[in-house]
Amino acid sequence: MKIEPKDPLQASTQNSTETTQSRPTLRTVFLDRDGVINRKMPEGQYVTSWQHFDLLPGVPEAIARLNQAGLRVLVVTNQRGVALGLYTAADVDAMHTKLQRVLSVSDAHVDGFYFCPHDKHQCNCRKPLPGLFEQAKKQFPEIEPATSLVIGDSLSDIEFGHNLGLQTIFLEGDESHRQHQKPGASKAADLADRRFPSLPDAVDYLLA
Ligand SMILES: [Mg+2]
Ligand SMILES: [Zn+2]
Repeated sequence: MKIEPKDPLQASTQNSTETTQSRPTLRTVFLDRDGVINRKMPEGQYVTSWQHFDLLPGVPEAIARLNQAGLRVLVVTNQRGVALGLYTAADVDAMHTKLQRVLSVSDAHVDGFYFCPHDKHQCNCRKPLPGLFEQAKKQFPEIEPATSLVIGDSLSDIEFGHNLGLQTIFLEGDESHRQHQKPGASKAADLADRRFPSLPDAVDYLLA
């Protein structure tokens, strides 16, 4: 059965005759990777291989629920570690292949992976710049900002979504995570449409 989440980020007006400002149905969810799908490494450290890919609790099930709801699930991730020579683009692809295999155990899948391998100020695809959205749109021309949402744990994710006109959800992490959040976290929390501790919490809300 296909669930069609309506106006996911609008306070639902019980009275359906109130039709003003209703948003189109959500179709595409852009997920940041590190800090959303897998545990983020301490600031300045990178997930260089599958060995360091620590899947966060409940994430495969949360992605499976998005899949079952008929939503397109895309991963958009800045991987500056490639530009720094810490790992290669092929290593990133290999991690994503492995991730896809692990997700499949929970009947979950990602419809597309897009990553920026560049250093700062060298490209148009390092979030918050829009290049990764454009790459996704090239593969799925039906993607529209008005029916898309980004979920991330950094200001760059929220600015990426905000600049493109996507809805935005900021993941604040749990109590312990919040204590060593990077600069920009409070700005991201303010700018985002919604805030939740984790991806499963955000999905609970979206599919409620
Ligand atoms: Mg992140
Ligand atoms: Zn780039």
